[in-house]
Amino acid sequence: MGPRFVDWAITSRCNLRCRHCLAEKAEEMPRELLLPLAEEIVELRPDWVILEGGEPLLREGLLPLLSEMEGLDLYLITNGSLLGEELARELGRRGVRVVFSMDGASREVYEETKEGASFQSFQRGVERASREGIFHGVTVVLSRKNLHQMGETVEFVRRQGGKFVTFIPLQPRDGGEDPYYRAYGLSPRDHLRAMRLIYGRDWGVEVYYDAPFLWAFAEREGVSLPGGRSGITIPEVRGCACGTTLYLAPDGGILPCMFSPPSLTLSRYPEESLRRAWEKVRGSELIRRFKSREGREPPCSPCPHFHQCFGCMSRVLKVQGRPSAPDPECPFGNAGKGSGGGGF
Ligand code: SF4
Ligand code: SF4
Repeated sequence: MGPRFVDWAITSRCNLRCRHCLAEKAEEMPRELLLPLAEEIVELRPDWVILEGGEPLLREGLLPLLSEMEGLDLYLITNGSLLGEELARELGRRGVRVVFSMDGASREVYEETKEGASFQSFQRGVERASREGIFHGVTVVLSRKNLHQMGETVEFVRRQGGKFVTFIPLQPRDGGEDPYYRAYGLSPRDHLRAMRLIYGRDWGVEVYYDAPFLWAFAEREGVSLPGGRSGITIPEVRGCACGTTLYLAPDGGILPCMFSPPSLTLSRYPEESLRRAWEKVRGSELIRRFKSREGREPPCSPCPHFHQCFGCMSRVLKVQGRPSAPDPECPFGNAGKGSGGGGF
């Protein structure tokens, strides 16, 4: 069995500077390796492939790469500022679905979050994609900067004919103190409020909250979750998706997920084949222990939702420093700051 999806950051370069960006400036794989790697991805037969960055539209050789993977379900995540009409048409011809990163629903919040960005040019990019029929939806890095704009964001996507909004709560950086995360990261109470807001009504587009405790929330509050394909998340895989997907860094490093700390690099392309990298992810003892009750501490270990959650492995490693620790943002345990959900 192959990975459910492959998430490939094809460049670490970007024309903007998002304040939450976790993309490390890294050596890019030489262009001549792109097509052989794409071929190996096709052979692994993932259900879909995500291309992202940095800004993937900056990667030379993008269109031949997309042609190589034609036939796969392809999603491209872009900030949209470089998406001209001709390029939108080329993406449409190759059946690519475009997902925009949208970290604010007003000019002020958007431009404050993405340094060097223009909200107007983002809107034009969405309109172009919409006209070409390739606008799939948006991802939002959700933080205390844009938490109050969740509803406006979903409304924007609905008006433009998008299908999906995926809220991805702000993740910490690796390696110690992270002032941005400390200031704008969500508390357990924020998570609970956000999920209640999202799933308290029908928005007319599918809305997904990318946190492992989403299924715990759904069970506790009796809400049903969207079943469609957002391009980012796997509805039928409950909880942390580590071990079911493959993340390729711009320099060929292979990790369980895009938020994994670099110390979790399990393999490197082309030194090892992608199939070998996938075997290593599948056989990772770290992931196995993280997903077992005996490998974890309370409140995760005795949690009734454990097997449909596990907590976020990347966040646990970066914030708590040991894989056995609980998820500090969980609204249902008592592990984090300002827990709003109460214990069990
Ligand atoms: S480590 Fe966190 S972000 Fe990555 S798949 Fe698991 S829950 Fe999702
Ligand atoms: S306590 Fe742990 S396993 Fe239970 S819902 Fe919270 S993060 Fe998930």
